[in-house]
Amino acid sequence: NGTHRVNMSNVDSPLQIFVRAKKKINDIFIEIDDYVKDAVTFMHAVAGDSSIASAQDLTNVEAYVSKVQAIREVLKRDHMKVAFFGRTSNGKSTVINAMLHDKILPSGIGHTTNCFLQVEGSDTNESFMRTEGSEEKLSVQSVSQLGHALCATRLQECSLVHVYWPRELCALLRDDVVLVDSPGVDVTPNLDEWIDKYCLDADVFVLVANAESTLMIAEKNFFHKVSTKISQPNIFILNNRWDASASEPEYMDQVRSQHANRCVDFLSRELRVCTPKEAEERIFFISAKEALLTRMREREKPVSSPILADGHQIRYFEFVDFERKFEECISQSAVRTKFAQHSRRGKNIAAEVMSALEQMKASKVEKQRILQEQLTAIEEQLTSITRQMKEKIGKMVSLTLSQEIRRLSALVDEYDT
Ligand code: GDP
Repeated sequence: NGTHRVNMSNVDSPLQIFVRAKKKINDIFIEIDDYVKDAVTFMHAVAGDSSIASAQDLTNVEAYVSKVQAIREVLKRDHMKVAFFGRTSNGKSTVINAMLHDKILPSGIGHTTNCFLQVEGSDTNESFMRTEGSEEKLSVQSVSQLGHALCATRLQECSLVHVYWPRELCALLRDDVVLVDSPGVDVTPNLDEWIDKYCLDADVFVLVANAESTLMIAEKNFFHKVSTKISQPNIFILNNRWDASASEPEYMDQVRSQHANRCVDFLSRELRVCTPKEAEERIFFISAKEALLTRMREREKPVSSPILADGHQIRYFEFVDFERKFEECISQSAVRTKFAQHSRRGKNIAAEVMSALEQMKASKVEKQRILQEQLTAIEEQLTSITRQMKEKIGKMVSLTLSQEIRRLSALVDEYDT
């Protein structure tokens, strides 16, 4: 049934590092948004008094409102991106399907992915596809429909098709992982264009190699180019089709260590993207086909189920181990590259708005000080005037008194005579 929901609790998933960090930084930017808007409202209120907030101050702070909005938009859309590369038919689409626990991308004989396919979570319950640069949504209900739609739309090898799939059906999509499938690295002369268009913002690269052969020049070349354009790319190597080893168990260990040594050498000494010890943690021997089959059975989806080869459980555990290490790597890397810059920017904006407000406060305090000085001077003047007045009145009173005394004594004199 097509409505199997992801009900497993994934609070322990390393992807939660990213999910929680994203929530936190989004919340912080809501607060910064409020803070900046409050500052603008306040400045408008005192705008009449040009000695406190100049028109320039106001324009400066108002500009932060749209900057904060723009950052919030980017943050809402931020995701973790993983891109899969390798030769045609090594099993890239099958690996992606196994990770998504469902047959979403067409794979197999008769279908080669001849463009870039980006699978991401759909916010609605619908599944649909959209070609780059077009707004038209093509509904896709099934993998065969998607295969037909891809064949019908004439696409160039460098074009991108978005496939939106309901988030609630896949844990990876729900936690904001975006998966990109590519045409085989053996079919294109346009590696540079590929990298510039689709790889510069990838947090993790997965090379899907074929365990039945050695790493090919085309595959190596591609990653040499990647590592000249991106400093320290995170690269995992999946030696896929490891189920083939079951038919020759006597050579299995020998073949495995040969492949592993070459892969370690490639990552650490050729590309110099990690140490040999780190490289060992990036190399896995898996069977995507078996992993997908196991998961389809778990979901009770109809599958034509051949008997799985010996050792399939070990290969499945190694696939699960890969997913865990991949999740740790992608979430840590995405937090660093996507949020570090925004958190610096947020801090600067808050500091700059605060400094504008402090400047206003300082000029208000200065204005109060001047007013206070003027007041004191007036008071002193008043005191002095009052004192002078008092003296004058005193004099006038004493003058009037002495005149009265003189008049009375004259009267007394007159009376005596
Ligand atoms: P892509 O071109 O790299 O995307 O390769 P696909 O995912 O389309 O796989 C090509 C063919 O290889 C399909 O028929 C798959 O079923 C098959 N395939 C993929 N993974 C495995 C695997 O681990 N073991 C085996 N035996 N076959 C596989």
